[in-house]
Amino acid sequence: MAKFQVRRWSERPRMLVFMLGVMLPAAALIAVGVWHLRTIQREKSIEAVFQREYQQVLAIAEKRIDARAYEIAEEASAKFPDASQGDQLEAFLKSHPDIAHAFLWRKGHVENQSQHDRMGDPEFVEESKKFSSMIGPWFDLDSEELIGKIKKIETTEGRHVFITSNWVTRGDKMQYQSLVVFKPRGSTAEHPALAGLIYDTDYLSNKFFPQALEEVLPDQNKNDTSHPIPEIMVRSSKEHTPLAASRCWDGGAPEVERGFDTVFPGLILGIKLHGTTIANISNHFVRTAFLILGALSLLMGGGMLLAYRNVARELALAKLKSDFVSNVSHELRTPLALIRLYAETLELGRIANPGKRQEYYEIIRKESERLSSLINNILDFSRIESGKKEYDFRQTDVADLVRGTLESYRFEIEQNGFQFEQKIDNDLPQVSLDREAIARSLLNLVNNAVKYSATEKYLGVNLYRHNGDVNLEVVDHGIGIPAKEQPKIFEKFYRVGDPMMHNTKGSGLGLSLVRHIVQAHGGEVAVESEPGRGSKFTITLPVQTSEVQQAKGVPA
Ligand code: ADP
Repeated sequence: MAKFQVRRWSERPRMLVFMLGVMLPAAALIAVGVWHLRTIQREKSIEAVFQREYQQVLAIAEKRIDARAYEIAEEASAKFPDASQGDQLEAFLKSHPDIAHAFLWRKGHVENQSQHDRMGDPEFVEESKKFSSMIGPWFDLDSEELIGKIKKIETTEGRHVFITSNWVTRGDKMQYQSLVVFKPRGSTAEHPALAGLIYDTDYLSNKFFPQALEEVLPDQNKNDTSHPIPEIMVRSSKEHTPLAASRCWDGGAPEVERGFDTVFPGLILGIKLHGTTIANISNHFVRTAFLILGALSLLMGGGMLLAYRNVARELALAKLKSDFVSNVSHELRTPLALIRLYAETLELGRIANPGKRQEYYEIIRKESERLSSLINNILDFSRIESGKKEYDFRQTDVADLVRGTLESYRFEIEQNGFQFEQKIDNDLPQVSLDREAIARSLLNLVNNAVKYSATEKYLGVNLYRHNGDVNLEVVDHGIGIPAKEQPKIFEKFYRVGDPMMHNTKGSGLGLSLVRHIVQAHGGEVAVESEPGRGSKFTITLPVQTSEVQQAKGVPA
């Protein structure tokens, strides 16, 4: 029992090193991955990245929309009539249908003109009247400031106009308008003049913004589902419904918003993703990352399990090999010591009794036979391991071979107190086999049966025809083999390790040799056994070759 425990403890530290060296870093890696993903989830890091990126997209969009608005306003201002040509306003508006109202101011005098086509709309007429009464006093009051502002813009930004917002009431709604102010041609320091253009909501929401928004969005392929498509919209700060939106806008609230700073104060740019949300994308990313991490963990776990089993197997093999060396040394030492002892005794010539002498000679012979069978096993094993084992197959009378092999052992077996039964069928076909190898296999099985029978000393050898094969059975009523050990006993060096079962010495090579030899003959070796009741080893040898020969007309 103590020996058993020592063995297990000596393997434990190595496995512990393996676990610490391989499993801990892997587990740490996975734990860090999970922690990292959880932090991303908790701190909404992906959402934050999207928000930042979309803020930038909106800032760029605003700049481009402003530039476009300035371009249109500069173009219109360039075509605006001279300060002295107030009568040309109507003609100007005719050629600029997008402008709702235009006016020209000189000190104490203002001319106002609204788009002629729309004067059928009483609300528009009302709005026009309001402008004509409002603009004069406003410009009279603020003209200096406005002219100074335009001058500054001209010198610093190279532009001639400035654009601001204006709210008007139409029906029950507040409507947004853009007011463009500039100095018309003919405005001088002595006779200053100011001009104004009003672009109303209809133009902004139906024409200007739809075009401008399409231009600011990068080209998107709607069928490409791998990238979410951003959608952009403009709304007034007083309403949530969009004033205008990019073509693919599918409703809902924008995820990121930004107020216009300079050209369209009071309007807000908003952006969201087509058909999805930033939260969805983030969840999808985290879920996918968790799945990948899970799959990697499984792979890593599987790999480690394989490595663990491999290391465990190597350790067990190393252990078996070291047991093998000590077992073999013991196996060699005992017969050598006996041979030496009896040979020396005989050499001294002190044994007068011829019967005794005969007994000593027999011991020396038997012990040398044990030695050579062990050495033959080892040699065979090393030939098999190095792939150099060769078999000399010949058509053989297998019954004759088995009888002959057992004959030389019968006396010894019976002398050891064994009941020996041998049942060999008549008329067995010839089998193509290597005589020496099959004889060695049989002897290994017989030796085991003898070695592992403590109290119930029975040995049976049966040879019979079965399903086109020849079966060779070796039966004992000995200690038996536990079911879970049975598949392992054919492995090299393997010995049933429970010292409660037996303390018989051996090399652990016998059965592995038997299996190799039998398989080389195209056969199999099997065991049926029950602890305490005994074992039955069956070698199955195919007789195909000889039957093929019989079929070809070779006499049996
Ligand atoms: P060895 O007998 O030299 O240990 P073997 O390869 O012949 O090696 O056998 C492997 C192991 O199988 C033995 O150590 C023993 O535990 C078990 N074994 C083999 N034959 C028998 C048997 N007839 N009865 C009980 N156990 C057996």
